[in-house]
Amino acid sequence: MSRKLLNRKKMFCLSCMEEHEVETVSCIDKNIFKGILVEYPAEYYYCSKAKEYYGDENQMRSNDISMKDAYRRKQGLLTTEDISSIRGKYNMSQSDLCLLLGWGKKTITRYEGHQIQDAAHDTILRKLSEDPEWFLVLLELAKDSIPAVSYAKYREAAARLFEQERDRYLRKAIFAQYARFHDKLEYNGNVRLSLDKVVDVIRYFSNAPQVVKLYKVKLMKLLWYSDALSFKRRGYAITGLIYQALPMGAVPIAHDSIIDLYGVEYDEIELGDGTGYFFKKSKSAEYQYLSQEDREILDEIIRIFGSCTKDAIIDIMHKEQAYLETAPRAVISFTYAKGLSIQ
Ligand SMILES: [Zn+2]
Repeated sequence: MSRKLLNRKKMFCLSCMEEHEVETVSCIDKNIFKGILVEYPAEYYYCSKAKEYYGDENQMRSNDISMKDAYRRKQGLLTTEDISSIRGKYNMSQSDLCLLLGWGKKTITRYEGHQIQDAAHDTILRKLSEDPEWFLVLLELAKDSIPAVSYAKYREAAARLFEQERDRYLRKAIFAQYARFHDKLEYNGNVRLSLDKVVDVIRYFSNAPQVVKLYKVKLMKLLWYSDALSFKRRGYAITGLIYQALPMGAVPIAHDSIIDLYGVEYDEIELGDGTGYFFKKSKSAEYQYLSQEDREILDEIIRIFGSCTKDAIIDIMHKEQAYLETAPRAVISFTYAKGLSIQ
C-alpha cells in the first residue's frame, strides 16, 4: 500500500494499547462495494510497534463516505459534496429541501452521508440544480410549511439563479443571430457585438433626465444614431449591433431579445395600437463598459434627440442617406455614416 505521512503525534495507540508516537497516513484504498471495484482516498493511524494500520471511529466514518463517493462517481451519481453544493446554491437547509421535494425529513442528511441515493432521486436533485424556475414552483407549493424568513431567503437565491440562467441563454441566442455576419465588419461598424455595452447604453439613455418618453422605437433610433455618430467620429461603433432598414427606421437585429437582457428594465403599457415598452430608470447608474469617449457621444445624442418625439426622430432618420440608400429590410452599412446629418 502506497501511503503518505500526514503527521505524527503522541497518543494512546488502539493497536498496541500503549501511549506512543502514532503516524497518521493517507492512502488509496481499494474495495468491492455492491459488486463494483472502487478506489478512494482514505486515512488511517499506523502503529510502528505492531506494524499495523487501524482507524478510529471518525476515520472509519469518513473513509466509508469516501468509498461511497467513489462508487457514486463510478455509477454516474451525485457525490455527497455535489448534493450539499446544490443545496448551497439555494441557500437551503437539509430539512427544508426534504420538505420542498416531499421526501422524508432525514433523506437529504442521509444522502449527504452514508446512504446512496436511488437513481430517481438523483435525477430530481440534478434537475433542481439546473432548473431554478422549477425550484421556484416547488417553493410556492411548500410556502405554508416553511418559515417566512427562510422562504424569502430561498426565493431570493432562486430568483437570482433564474435571472442569470435566463440571461445566459438569451445572450447565446442573440450571438447566434449575429453569427452569420461574422465577417461583415461594415455591418457592425468595425466592432464585435458587446451585449454588456448594449445594456449600458440603454441604461444610460433611460437614466438621463433629458430623454423623455423613451419607448422602444425611439430607443432603437437612439442606438443607431449613437453607433453611427461613433463610426463617423472614430471609425468604429460603440455596441457592434447590426441594424436593418425597417419602415420606422433602423432597428437592430434581435431587438426583441436585446430589451430583455438583464439590467434593462421596462414596463409594458397597453396603447391603442398594441403594447408599448417604456424604458425605466435602472437601479444602478454605473456604466463600467462605457469609455469616456463613448459617453460623450451618447451625451451628444441625448442633446439632439432626447426631447424629440418618436415621429420626429423617424422623420429625421428617413432623410438619412444610410436609410435612403438601403433597400427595405436590408442591413444598413456603416459606410453611410460618413454622410450622417449630425456631427
Ligand atoms: Zn501502537
